[in-house]
Amino acid sequence: MRRIENDCCSCATDTYPCRGSLCPLLNAEHIYCDKCKYELTGDVFFTYDGQDLCPDCIIDALIEDEIIEKEDHSL
Ligand SMILES: [Zn+2]
Ligand SMILES: [Zn+2]
Repeated sequence: MRRIENDCCSCATDTYPCRGSLCPLLNAEHIYCDKCKYELTGDVFFTYDGQDLCPDCIIDALIEDEIIEKEDHSL
């Protein structure tokens, strides 16, 4: 799930106002895992079946769809 959020609340200082459309916190795209709803920070997320998933949930989804096999820890 992707949401555009306006995080700017403090980039303006006495010297400089908010940089407006150049402000990196304005209209920042936040990506949340569609399964566990955690915010996915950095570049570590996967898009699968139309969903944005974190590394843990992509594994679950792939196991559910039998694309990969559940890890066998007995080996
Ligand atoms: Zn700003
Ligand atoms: Zn997740």
